[in-house]
Amino acid sequence: MGIFSKLKRDTAVVDVRDGATIDLRDADRPVWGFPSRCPECNAFGYLDRIDMRAQVMMQHCPTCFAKWETPRSVTIVEG
Ligand SMILES: [Zn+2]
Repeated sequence: MGIFSKLKRDTAVVDVRDGATIDLRDADRPVWGFPSRCPECNAFGYLDRIDMRAQVMMQHCPTCFAKWETPRSVTIVEG
């Protein structure tokens, strides 16, 4: 038995397909449950909390300390 037949036998199959798909046409829209870009400086925001009653994400910017709210209605909701 050669080394190549042993390597082939030990090869594990890893499925790297991702179940979640985001339409690239919506790339600029925020995703529900994930921090979005700062509206002031475009840095990555920090998601402070989600108000489930009001369906709003409360975020702030660690760079310029701006605060903003993102209503669920303007976000992409991943299935
Ligand atoms: Zn900012």
